[in-house]
Amino acid sequence: MAAPLVRTLSKVGRHISRPWGAGQAGVRSRSTRSAPDVASEQAAGLGVSFPPLQTYSEEEGMMRDAVKKYAQERIAPFVSKMDENSAMDEEVIKSLFEQGLMGIEIDPEYGGTGSTFFSSILVIEELAKVDPSVAVLCDIQNTLINTLVANLGTLAQKEHYLSRLSTDMVGSFCLSEAESGSDAFALKTRAEKQKDYYVINGSKMWISNAEHAGVFLVMANVDPAAGYRGITCFIVDRDTEGLEICKKENKLGLRASSTCPLNFDNVKVPEKNILGKVGQGYKYAIGMLNEGRIGIAAQMLGLAQGCFDHTVPYTRQRVQFGKRIFDFQGMQHQIAHVATQIEAARLLTYNAARLKEAGRPFIKEACMAKYFAAEVATLTTSKCIEWMGGVGFTKDYPIEKYYRDCKIGTIYEGTTNVQLSTMAKFIDKEYDH
Ligand SMILES: Cc1cc2nc3c(=O)[nH]c(=O)nc-3n(C[C@H](O)[C@H](O)[C@H](O)COP(=O)(O)OP(=O)(O)OC[C@H]3O[C@@H](n4cnc5c(N)ncnc54)[C@H](O)[C@@H]3O)c2cc1C
Repeated sequence: MAAPLVRTLSKVGRHISRPWGAGQAGVRSRSTRSAPDVASEQAAGLGVSFPPLQTYSEEEGMMRDAVKKYAQERIAPFVSKMDENSAMDEEVIKSLFEQGLMGIEIDPEYGGTGSTFFSSILVIEELAKVDPSVAVLCDIQNTLINTLVANLGTLAQKEHYLSRLSTDMVGSFCLSEAESGSDAFALKTRAEKQKDYYVINGSKMWISNAEHAGVFLVMANVDPAAGYRGITCFIVDRDTEGLEICKKENKLGLRASSTCPLNFDNVKVPEKNILGKVGQGYKYAIGMLNEGRIGIAAQMLGLAQGCFDHTVPYTRQRVQFGKRIFDFQGMQHQIAHVATQIEAARLLTYNAARLKEAGRPFIKEACMAKYFAAEVATLTTSKCIEWMGGVGFTKDYPIEKYYRDCKIGTIYEGTTNVQLSTMAKFIDKEYDH
């Protein structure tokens, strides 16, 4: 078994700086202190300068480098086959756990890596450069499932589930239904109370990673008369009687990531498997998706960068009219434009993540990051195919796969319209006087 790179690094990391007021004890280096610290020192006239947004703590930098190497060595060889077969390789999932990448923020007490949200964002970005399907597996586990259980779980739930989620169990987040997508809280799945358990009936759609998941966090309504205030989050184990994981969707992109409908036919779930409080599920879902969007922004950012990194070297080698195609001004301007868009997406994404870690308002910024990064991924992948000419259109190069994979960025964890509407609500409020 390979050494858990990230875990090893994280042990070092626990004794070094925790950046940007992430709430962990540790010696902070000057370059990674939190923005509020810097602001107060500035106010005190100490002349402190703000570090650039792309400043990483030692731990973050090590993690980023380690994941980059891991993704090249352990994921890249499988990418094309997994896409062709529409199936995630079991070895890839196993290695993600071995490397400590499925429990990045989980406390080491539960077998996790004990790192930060920002580290998760860097990991998702690095994985997406190589395979956005693997990135979304890691993203959902870290930014939705683990965080929900860590924040809301009882001690018993944490002991049981966090220790599995960090070591060998994939989790799925089950909100969407056939009739309720953007209007998620119109969901119809019911949970009826009987003695000390609930009986769940209904169905879910589009559930990522369901093929491999050992546990499902399921939003079901315990009191439809109360509308969305009846929505409650249940922890449902895969082997629970009456739970059926149906045939996975045959998708345009992200093909290695399974997306399945689920059926619930009198699924009995003990009361102790409620996550958090009855009727609070909608709040939990909103909260998690707000954070999760930063993860999707990182996925789209990594995807765009990965595609760009495959393409630019080709333009530097390919000769037409006796010159490298990179040397034509018409090409250079386009390449520089796309590079700028990617950089802007990175800054939006990192800024949203740093705001979230610093405990400052971040919802509008997370929507902006997700919306913009998805647009940039769409632009980048389309341009990269054009820059490669005919070969970009074939499966001999990975570019066409990035082009297919990027489309999901405008759909899941809130469509582009949903992001824009949320931003507009904030902007409207900002101009209230
Ligand atoms: C590959 C994949 C993986 C997914 N993974 C998960 C998962 O793990 N868990 C989960 O719960 N869900 C998951 N989803 C579901 C995903 O979140 C929904 O598809 C998404 O929220 C959109 O819902 P919908 O597909 O029903 O589209 P609709 O809501 O029907 O939207 C269709 C169009 O109408 C527009 N629209 C809708 N309402 C408005 C409005 N008020 N104003 C303006 N425009 C509007 C949308 O922007 C969109 O363009 C996944 C989906 C896919 C495709």
